[in-house]
Amino acid sequence: MAQFNILYLSSEVFPFAKVGGLADVAGALPKALKDREHDVRVLMPKYKKIRDRKYNLREVIRLREIHVPLGDQTITVSVKSGFLPDSKVQAYFLEYKPLFDRADVYVDPKTKEGWEDNHLRFALFARTAFEMLKVLFWQPDLIHVNDWTSSLVPFYLKTVYKDDEFFQNTRTLLTIHNLAYQGVFSAETAQQIGADIIPFDETHPAWDNGNFNYLKAGLATADLISTVSPTYAREILTPEFGSGLDGLLQTRKDVLHGVLNGIDVDEWNPEVDKHIAKNYTIEELDNKAANRAALLEEMDIEADDDTMVIGLISRLATQKGFDLLEEAAEKLMEMPIVLVILGTGQSDVEEMVKGLVEKYPGRVVAKIDFSDELAHKIEAGADAFLMPSHYEPCGLNQMYSMAYGTPPIVHAVGGLVDTVENARPKKKTGTGFVFDSYSADKLVDAVKRAVEAFKDKEAWTAIMRNGMQRDFSWNASAEALEDVYKLSMGEAVTG
Ligand code: ADP
Repeated sequence: MAQFNILYLSSEVFPFAKVGGLADVAGALPKALKDREHDVRVLMPKYKKIRDRKYNLREVIRLREIHVPLGDQTITVSVKSGFLPDSKVQAYFLEYKPLFDRADVYVDPKTKEGWEDNHLRFALFARTAFEMLKVLFWQPDLIHVNDWTSSLVPFYLKTVYKDDEFFQNTRTLLTIHNLAYQGVFSAETAQQIGADIIPFDETHPAWDNGNFNYLKAGLATADLISTVSPTYAREILTPEFGSGLDGLLQTRKDVLHGVLNGIDVDEWNPEVDKHIAKNYTIEELDNKAANRAALLEEMDIEADDDTMVIGLISRLATQKGFDLLEEAAEKLMEMPIVLVILGTGQSDVEEMVKGLVEKYPGRVVAKIDFSDELAHKIEAGADAFLMPSHYEPCGLNQMYSMAYGTPPIVHAVGGLVDTVENARPKKKTGTGFVFDSYSADKLVDAVKRAVEAFKDKEAWTAIMRNGMQRDFSWNASAEALEDVYKLSMGEAVTG
């Protein structure tokens, strides 16, 4: 098996900076690739919270001053070096304080909108990759980039660096974690990021109704494209899920692959989880009860043994199905359940969640916060987990839930289809409760099925165990991704 040199770019990497699932993937996949003997190195921006001392980051003399051209300016950045925790994966951190020394990764907390200079931030990030590689004199076979925040890499490679000998053998893979976020900026952006000096005009697919679209630029030029589940790979070719890019994606269908994300089983494993009240395993499930009790106490809510505690951890975004939850709330509350919600995000969704808490005291609790620790406690302490997402490229929480013996209740979409098997309690099969169309009634019906199954302890335990037995580790996913990498080398995929 050929070994590859891979530079992996992500704007968030756990544990350094996390907004959503991309961070988890970027923190885990490179380790799985390293275990498979690839030379994989990560590059991310250095945000304010990433302290040198905490992560043992060091200066590299050669990388202390890198001159990066951007539009008509040259920006001098530096790159520091460290490792992904508990691994030998080298991580590089782009340091440029005027653009990155901020607490929030994407959003200006004052306006709750993206930072005004996001177009510059993530163009600089992409161009630094090239300039850093030259200084390092390291020629990767592949630059693997993620979402719009690094999707200018394939674009630059096919334009600015097209004739650069150094990159003649370098290919690109762009992974879509969420097609709805595209990085769309005004036309002047092209000038500012140096896209106007290259053979590039208004007919180029990067243009989007007179604006400059970063993700489109990447999708049009990447050698390979992947997304994070096979079902989402099919869905994005349709107008319903294509976020306006289904037409372009249709033209790139031949290089589009769906590879399911894995989960970091060192981080998300009830047997060794440091955050939870009591560790437990598939053999000693009784210990899960201690986590349930601890969660109820921490959230200051009561639930007897016949009441199902349903957890929900999510970015508070329209995508995640909160409109459905709101519509279904009254009927849901007729059932013996309590709802424990953890999330931050859109203000309108936040208000809606607060409204539910007010309307159903003692039945719905919410923490409007980002807390990794509480997320672990909810996965361990809840009886079931809710994910009514309108669309879901892969979704990680349903996999965490299954690993924690907390059957998920999910809408049959994207990666949720590929990971959750609908339970048949009488037969003791399946790992969760799936509803197949996006409607409040269907959601209520799925929760009803879960509540019924919950009454039958034997069936419920079987469903818990079925989920816990599933292997969601990165091994299988990394292997599948390797097959995609091989395509970039023109090597035949076997098996
Ligand atoms: P997405 O990437 O669309 O946000 P995923 O399910 O792929 O959705 O990944 C979300 C990740 O972010 C999970 O690890 C989840 O636990 C975490 N997460 C989301 N919101 C919060 C929060 N408020 N506090 C802690 N973790 C959160």
